[in-house]
Amino acid sequence: MRLGIHLSIGQGLQKTMEEALDLKCNTVQIFAKNPRSWKAGAFDQKGAAFIRQNKKDQGIDPWVVHATYLINACSPDDDLYSRSISALELEVGRAEEMGAEFFVIHPGNRKKSSSQEAINRLQDTLNHLLENFHAISFLVEGMAGAGTELGADFLELSKIVSPFDPEKVGICLDTCHLFGSGFDIRSERGWRKTLDKFFSHIDHQRLGLIHVNDSVHKLGEKKDRHTHLGEGEIGRQGFEAMVKLPELRNIPLILETPGEARKQGKRNLDFLRSL
Ligand SMILES: [Zn+2]
Ligand SMILES: [Zn+2]
Repeated sequence: MRLGIHLSIGQGLQKTMEEALDLKCNTVQIFAKNPRSWKAGAFDQKGAAFIRQNKKDQGIDPWVVHATYLINACSPDDDLYSRSISALELEVGRAEEMGAEFFVIHPGNRKKSSSQEAINRLQDTLNHLLENFHAISFLVEGMAGAGTELGADFLELSKIVSPFDPEKVGICLDTCHLFGSGFDIRSERGWRKTLDKFFSHIDHQRLGLIHVNDSVHKLGEKKDRHTHLGEGEIGRQGFEAMVKLPELRNIPLILETPGEARKQGKRNLDFLRSL
């Protein structure tokens, strides 16, 4: 099982890797900069080179970078769109310096544009990134569907990724987002139905990663708030069912639960391992 957690890079990238190893993770996710600001602090170039050279020998694969929160990769607003492109260029550039395998991107908010217009814009974004960055692969994340969030249903996700090479553009699912968008993954039967539907729209090889989070909010409420595994609305049974699914056996699992990795994070990692 490839299992990891989202970690902070505040103490430098080398420390991030040490923390991952302390937590016995064999995959990791990080942000390449402060996720709540457009400004980017100095980049830890030395740490990035260290990660690139050592992560595979240390057994960490894949190394995942998640796009930051202010980015709207399908925005109909030209200013916000161009800011988002600049931010993505910087973050994907940093991810490539670390030798990251995957860059996770949210589809974005379509606002007043139609689903098709937003899909076109997001595809422009992906094309632009693929033209400029050749080493990394992109994963578009399935969302809970709050407000005008794009990518809360599998048909939309399939339209987004289908023109691209499956090696270069795949999908990241998130258990909390699935549950929020109405997929009842609290049982094996519910998971079965969910995956059958997913794979009827999207090729197996495109599923690159799963974010494993319990949900504060109820089924189908279209809200995205993560909580500790077994303590939310999905509950222990949902995760017990998940780890038994043969289709997911080789898919890396990354936790994005609240709190500190060393404390609450470790508890969630242990919970998943115990299943
Ligand atoms: Zn995400
Ligand atoms: Zn989320």
